Amino acid sequence: MNVAIIGGGASGLVCAIEAARGGHRVSVFEKNAKLGRKILATGNGKCNISNLHLNPTRYHGEFPQFVTPILKRFNTLTCKDFFRTLGLEMREGEAGRLYPMSHHASSVVDILVHEARELGVKFLCESEVKRIAHKGEQFELHVNDQTSLFDACVIASGSFAYPSLGSSGSGYAFAKCLGHTVIEPYPTLVQLLSDEAHLSLANGVKIDAGVELFVSGTMRQRVQGDVLFTTYGLSGSAILDISRAASRACVENEPSWVVLDLLPTFSKEAVQSLLQKRLAYAGKKSLILWLEGIIPKKLALFLIHANTLEHLTSASLLSPKELKRLCFSLKALRLHVKGTKGFESAEVCSGGVDVREVDEKSLMSKKVKNLYFCGEVLDIDGDCGGFNLHFAWGSGYVVGQSIKA
Ligand SMILES: Cc1cc2nc3c(=O)[nH]c(=O)nc-3n(C[C@H](O)[C@H](O)[C@H](O)COP(=O)(O)OP(=O)(O)OC[C@H]3O[C@@H](n4cnc5c(N)ncnc54)[C@H](O)[C@@H]3O)c2cc1C
Repeated sequence: MNVAIIGGGASGLVCAIEAARGGHRVSVFEKNAKLGRKILATGNGKCNISNLHLNPTRYHGEFPQFVTPILKRFNTLTCKDFFRTLGLEMREGEAGRLYPMSHHASSVVDILVHEARELGVKFLCESEVKRIAHKGEQFELHVNDQTSLFDACVIASGSFAYPSLGSSGSGYAFAKCLGHTVIEPYPTLVQLLSDEAHLSLANGVKIDAGVELFVSGTMRQRVQGDVLFTTYGLSGSAILDISRAASRACVENEPSWVVLDLLPTFSKEAVQSLLQKRLAYAGKKSLILWLEGIIPKKLALFLIHANTLEHLTSASLLSPKELKRLCFSLKALRLHVKGTKGFESAEVCSGGVDVREVDEKSLMSKKVKNLYFCGEVLDIDGDCGGFNLHFAWGSGYVVGQSIKA
């Protein structure tokens, strides 16, 4: 079969390899000048390929059980074997994360592209597909003012997330044109904006904190991990972990708050007694210096302003009420979420092509014969930790093997 793959990213490259191994003539259309640009940016350039703790519960969407047959067919072992046979060894990082042994995402792209070329895959870079028309049993692709016909078409063009790396959401438009439903996408694994006064005073501080997300007064999620204070709000792995629910709340105009436990290894009582004890030997120390003994200086400065304690010339002047307020801030710092940094900064998108209209075994459209979808264009998104790339490789693998004459 003459197969067109739209997108030379993670899912498109694996799909191209498997389809070519199946004896198909494969052309990959990529709008960027280079293949796999997003892969190069993953895991801070180290590419968190997959995760040893792979599980369907790590995936989300309107119908997340869709991932189960894909993960059965392409599990962590299959993933490791797939890359090992291409010549790429992996190493294990924290929390089951898998990375290329070389520590470089470019190794992953180079090895995938080499294999595909060896198998005769034709790469057409700087070739943005503008339109797809279904002509009889075939697909007519409009690229760079030219049209070409294919027997099968794979939409592997990603989502709206991080458009500077190529994904522009064109796959959603193609899917809609071909009769598919698209669940409205919103940014996920994304930094949060906060309009809390003085927050920028803590800019640059990174701590291990307990994080709770409250939406319309109800606690929705609790995690612990890195929180980074920034001029616009909050970032860090724990914030990305709660960003899906926070982003959804923003879309639905539900008020949300992040509540931070800045001293997660201490109980509230322990913090209270620690502060009380420290008052005894505060001497003439300024409030900021006194707080600096337990939290970073910039964070101390923010807490002082947030609690309107700037007027105090020394820590020993703290009243019992003010001490209580400080203790409360250390254990349950409440920050309003104004929004997210948006698609521009998001690692992935929630939403996408409705998977109920796609066959879960072959990933072929239930509406159009020989039309396939793989990767982030589908309404599936995974947790942080290699789950999204795993889904991209796995769904590309399944599509590549499913294309039949
Ligand atoms: C900064 C960042 C870090 C990340 N880190 C990780 C990580 O460490 N681990 C992890 O699991 N996930 C990570 N992700 C998520 C992961 O990269 C994506 O989920 C994955 O790349 C999706 O693969 P895909 O093939 O669906 O889409 P993409 O990789 O986005 O590929 C789609 C390709 O299609 C091309 N394209 C789009 N439209 C057209 C068109 N009309 N014509 C031709 N070409 C087109 C695009 O240029 C792009 O190259 C990260 C994402 C970002 C942005």
